[in-house]
Amino acid sequence: MSTVITNIGELVTNEPGAGEGPLGLRRDAAVVIDGDRIAWTGPAADAPAADEAFDAGGRAVLPGFVDSHAHLVFAGERAEEFAARMSGRPYAAGGIRTTVEHTRAASDEALRANLRRLVDEMARQGVTTVECKSGYGLTVEQEERAVRLAAEIADEVTYLGAHVVPAEYEDDPSGYVRLAATDMLAACAPHARWVDVFCERGAFDADQAREVLEAGKKAGLTPRVHANQLTEGPGVRLAVELDAASADHCTFLSDADVDALASSQTVATLLPGVEFSTRQPYPDARRLLDAGATVALATDCNPGSCYSSSIAFGIAIAVRDMRMTPDEAVWAATAGGARALRRTDVGHLAPGARADVQVLDAPSRLHLAYRPGVPLTAAVWKAGSRVKGPQNETREAMGWRSS
Ligand SMILES: [Zn+2]
Repeated sequence: MSTVITNIGELVTNEPGAGEGPLGLRRDAAVVIDGDRIAWTGPAADAPAADEAFDAGGRAVLPGFVDSHAHLVFAGERAEEFAARMSGRPYAAGGIRTTVEHTRAASDEALRANLRRLVDEMARQGVTTVECKSGYGLTVEQEERAVRLAAEIADEVTYLGAHVVPAEYEDDPSGYVRLAATDMLAACAPHARWVDVFCERGAFDADQAREVLEAGKKAGLTPRVHANQLTEGPGVRLAVELDAASADHCTFLSDADVDALASSQTVATLLPGVEFSTRQPYPDARRLLDAGATVALATDCNPGSCYSSSIAFGIAIAVRDMRMTPDEAVWAATAGGARALRRTDVGHLAPGARADVQVLDAPSRLHLAYRPGVPLTAAVWKAGSRVKGPQNETREAMGWRSS
C-alpha cells in the first residue's frame, strides 16, 4: 500500500541537502509513503503515482514529533498539588511518592488503559515516537510490571527504578540504590533499552546515580539522566562521563556543564513544560546552542511536575522564553528527539526513514510557535499508518495563497 501526500505548501525534511536551511525546507512538495517507510520526497510536479493520494491543500508537512522523555505508566493525578504549588508551595521531588501509592494499587488493565490513552493523546498532537519510563513502582515486581507494560505500547522504554527513594527505604537509601542496581535492574533490563536516574537534591546523589547507571550499562542498557533540574548538581557531568544519550532538564548549568555537553555526544533535552508547571526559571537554550550542544525538546509528561502531552506547547515556550528560533525549536522536537534516542530512522523525512508524518492545519511550521495553544495537527501517519486525519480540503478553502 502506497500513499502520495501531494500539494504540500511547505515540507520540513530535516535533511539539509534536500532543501533550504537546516530544516531542509521545500515548497510545493510531495511525499510518497510505501508500507511503513518513506519512499520518495521531491517537487509535487514530479511525484510518482501511488495507490492513494492525500491532498495537503497547501498546508505544512513535518516529520512526526519525537517525544524523548515521558513518564506514562502511572495511576491517579495530582491536580490539587499543582493548585497548591500555584498558590505558593515550591515543587519538591517527594511528590512522586503520591503517584507511587496510586500506581502500586492499580491493576495492569488500568495502567495499560492510561498509558494507551496518553500515547493516543500524543499521537493526535503529532507525536509518532514516544519514550516511556518506569519509576512509580519502586519494588522489583512493580518496576518489572511498569517496563513490561511500557514495552507493549511505547516505542522506547527506560528503566527508572532510581526515580526517588520509596518511603519504606527512607532510613536505608543505599539499600534501595543497591536493589535498583541489582535485582530490580535484572528484572527490568529485558524489557528496556535505557537506564535513567533522577540525580537531584531530594532524589539520588552522584555516587548513587553512578552505581545504578554503571550497573545498567553492564546489563546492556544505555544511560540517560535527569540532571540539573533544581540545582547546578552533578547530573550533567555524570551523564557526559558515562556517555549518556541525553541529559534531561539542564535548567541550572555551570559553564563547565555547558562545555561538557558541547564537547560530547550527550544531547541536552529541555523540558519547558516542567518549568511552566512548577514556575521555575526556564533553561537557557541559546547558551547551549551557541556553545555547540545538541538540544532536544520533550514533554516530560507526568502527573506531577508537568501533566502536558503537548510538544507544540514546549516549542512555543522555547521560542518565547528560552531564546530558540522557531526553526531550532521545530528541529529540537523532531530530529533533536531522535538524536536523544539515538535513532536514525525517525525525526526526518527521507527515503528509507520510518513513515512518521504530520500535516499541520497551517501553511508553515512557524505557526507552531506563532499560534500557541491552538491544536494545529491535521493528519498524522505513524510507520505508514494513518492515526489521525481530516478530510482533504482545497487550498482555496483553507484560505492560503489565494491572493
Ligand atoms: Zn522526567
